[in-house]
Amino acid sequence: MALSKTQLDKFREQLATWRKELDDGLNQTIQSMHQEEQTSFPDPTDQATVETDRNFDLRIRDRERKLIKKIDQAINRIKDGSFGACDSCGGSISVKRLQARPVTTLCIDCKTSQEIEERTRID
Ligand SMILES: [Zn+2]
Repeated sequence: MALSKTQLDKFREQLATWRKELDDGLNQTIQSMHQEEQTSFPDPTDQATVETDRNFDLRIRDRERKLIKKIDQAINRIKDGSFGACDSCGGSISVKRLQARPVTTLCIDCKTSQEIEERTRID
């Protein structure tokens, strides 16, 4: 079952909005980091707190950057017509699943077996 043009347009819009929101968030973090750098810290405890916060920020931003990459890939898949097809088995990913997680590249069956496999490997 292929996705209709209307559905694809909706996904593309959803992904573009999401990407923009993340992009705006990243710019804000970068701006506040610049401001922090100009402030001096007479108390070393304050300095440590700020650095912990910054590390936390960087981790979040790293995750956001990865997500933005996934969003870009999803938008590209909409363009080349492979959006909604499972990367692993080539079957279609259900619309419900795509609505919940539009950046997914695996159908629920492949995702489930991948998760079982990962869990087995860790154990
Ligand atoms: Zn699959």
